[in-house]
Amino acid sequence: MSKDTLRFNSKTIHGGQAPDKAYGAVMPPIYQTSTYAQTTPGGHQGYEYSRSANPTRSALEQSLASIEGGNYGLAFASGLSAIDAVMKLLKPGDEVVSTNDLYGGSYRLFTKIFEDFGIKFHFVNMENPSEIEPYINSNTKLIWVETPTNPMMNIIDIQAVANIAKKHKVLLGVDNTFATPYLQQPLSMGADIVMHSATKYLGGHSDVVMGALIVNEKELANKLYFIQNASGAVAGPMDSFLVLRGIKTLHVRMQRHCENGEAIAHFLAKHPKIEKVYWPGFASHPNHEVAKSQMKGFGGMISFVAKGNNYDEAIRIVENLKVFTLAESLGGVESLAGHPASMTHASIPKAEREKVGVVDALIRLSVGIEDKDDLIEDLSQAIG
Ligand SMILES: *Cc1c(COP(=O)(O)O)cnc(C)c1O
Repeated sequence: MSKDTLRFNSKTIHGGQAPDKAYGAVMPPIYQTSTYAQTTPGGHQGYEYSRSANPTRSALEQSLASIEGGNYGLAFASGLSAIDAVMKLLKPGDEVVSTNDLYGGSYRLFTKIFEDFGIKFHFVNMENPSEIEPYINSNTKLIWVETPTNPMMNIIDIQAVANIAKKHKVLLGVDNTFATPYLQQPLSMGADIVMHSATKYLGGHSDVVMGALIVNEKELANKLYFIQNASGAVAGPMDSFLVLRGIKTLHVRMQRHCENGEAIAHFLAKHPKIEKVYWPGFASHPNHEVAKSQMKGFGGMISFVAKGNNYDEAIRIVENLKVFTLAESLGGVESLAGHPASMTHASIPKAEREKVGVVDALIRLSVGIEDKDDLIEDLSQAIG
């Protein structure tokens, strides 16, 4: 039975993997080396310098390709350096249409770095994909989608955006960090590039910073590989080992993230002191039907606002949490709470933030895989 035909829950463990050639090690060794002996100039065994390729990173890159259903995977030093590599496909004068409710660091990279290099960005609410087309012209080279969005949990119809991208011969990149390939696989819906902050669910243990790109087309993979090697923001061997290890339990972790997320979303929605809960699993969520059709579950990311819509109340709640840790980031086994307006989204001007719903009272939860009753009791005592 070919490992390529395995189901998702087996691909996380076996996809693209083979025992190590030297001693049959089941996990690839951490090849902590920068260079490789050659018998004669050019006489090497496929590896000559670890920026260009490293066997531990190669094992991870094959796993990444397998779980996203793509042909090629590339591992980077961080999620942002993976996006940076995508942007380097472009030239001055090119234009990008991007999701408006975007990870703050992506917004900063686009507006503070790449705008200076002559690339123009249009930030568009893509909940209704027909809003994209007016921004497409002959200079448009890329559509950049994040779904579910951070932190408002809006859902964008990937297939519908892919149809627009194909019609105009524009590349479509999807930041799949929040959903993971367990929940949605954008390449199968027509995306050209899938991007991850592997720092989050793929690594899954809050112990590594890493990014990834996965593509199907050989020519696109070659261009991105050229940029990866030429710019050099590669994932190191130790980090590659950690993320490969994380991926092996992705499916069991995600199953629990979804179960706990559902329980907590409903707990919050019923709580008399809670005003509004953002979670795509509610039938009342504006794009619930799209979420249901393109995702296998609704994940463990939830945002909410307490009654009164009050900054001090939000700060009081996050400070009172004991099992949830107040911290940046998401996607680890431990539950985290964040206050987007003062933490992850502080770099976005207040007026811009509030336009998309990131009010001062908003709290974002990354629901971990602890016992859900402990998490609910913790929220209950913190809300009071
Ligand atoms: C964290 C994150 C990034 C950036 O990834 P880093 O690994 O922190 O560089 C990009 N997109 C999303 C959705 C993220 O959550």
